[in-house]
Amino acid sequence: SRRATARSIFRPDFNFEELGIGGLDKEFANIFRRAFASRVFPPAIIEDLGINHVKGMLLYGPPGTGKTLIARQIGQCLRAREPKIVNGPEVLNKYVGQSEENIRNLFKEAEDEYKKLGEGSQLHIIIFDEIDAICKTRGSTRDSTGVSDSIVNQLLSKIDGVDALNNILLIGMTNRFDMLDEALLRPGRLEVHVEIGLPDENGRVQILNIHTKRMRDSNRLENDVSLQELATRTKNFSGAEIEGLVRSATSWAFNRNINVQDLTKPKDVQNIKVGQADFDLALNEVK
Ligand code: ATP
Repeated sequence: SRRATARSIFRPDFNFEELGIGGLDKEFANIFRRAFASRVFPPAIIEDLGINHVKGMLLYGPPGTGKTLIARQIGQCLRAREPKIVNGPEVLNKYVGQSEENIRNLFKEAEDEYKKLGEGSQLHIIIFDEIDAICKTRGSTRDSTGVSDSIVNQLLSKIDGVDALNNILLIGMTNRFDMLDEALLRPGRLEVHVEIGLPDENGRVQILNIHTKRMRDSNRLENDVSLQELATRTKNFSGAEIEGLVRSATSWAFNRNINVQDLTKPKDVQNIKVGQADFDLALNEVK
């Protein structure tokens, strides 16, 4: 009925802080506004407004900035089922017609549920990592993976299948925005484009906090380490590179505590702590 209350698509205990995503608050808020907000309202209200839900979005940006992390964590926020995450190249198959069938199969469960339950169906999220592997500009040369126009066409026709998609949200991810077939990016298809860029200084502090949380909580980070200062020294680092920096620093701490002549006889395995000197070595090592 029109009186129906909000549809609870989010877990009641959902807490942004716990998602372990640093420096992407604005991007996350945009994603939720564009793709999820309308789905909280009763279908009758959406009918009154005469709009359709967004069917698809594209997250794009350099490697290691948290695109996959966001995709995975969206599942944590939602009450509904786990998103299906597929890797672009995986969908491709050397047998003629098999790739198209793989794409059809991805949508099948959601389509069947919609046929049975209509608007009562849960939201199905399908995430395509490296979507550029499938959706390169059509007409560009057929490469060794057998990418062909018919795969792009199959995906487009699935996205355009009107009714069936009220319960589907497609999220594509790519490092190569420039390579994507424009037809895929039009309104009604992957229409919302969210750039996931390199973190700014504040974002880097958040990411450093996330990836040193356990060692701080267990008092294994020396007091001489300033995360703020590390953030200023890691300009142009991605989140993944910051995580790598922490891992490298930790390896230097391990190194101080072992006997390199005989790895089976560590000097001190109990009192390991990661300090600023370890981070200095790590900064020289990575990037
Ligand atoms: P690619 O385009 O190469 O697939 P991506 O943008 O999907 O890269 P992720 O796989 O999400 O990058 O990042 C790799 C890892 O780096 C994450 O699992 C996480 O540990 C860390 N990381 C990246 N970005 C962030 C971030 N913003 N906050 C916290 N950790 C991050």
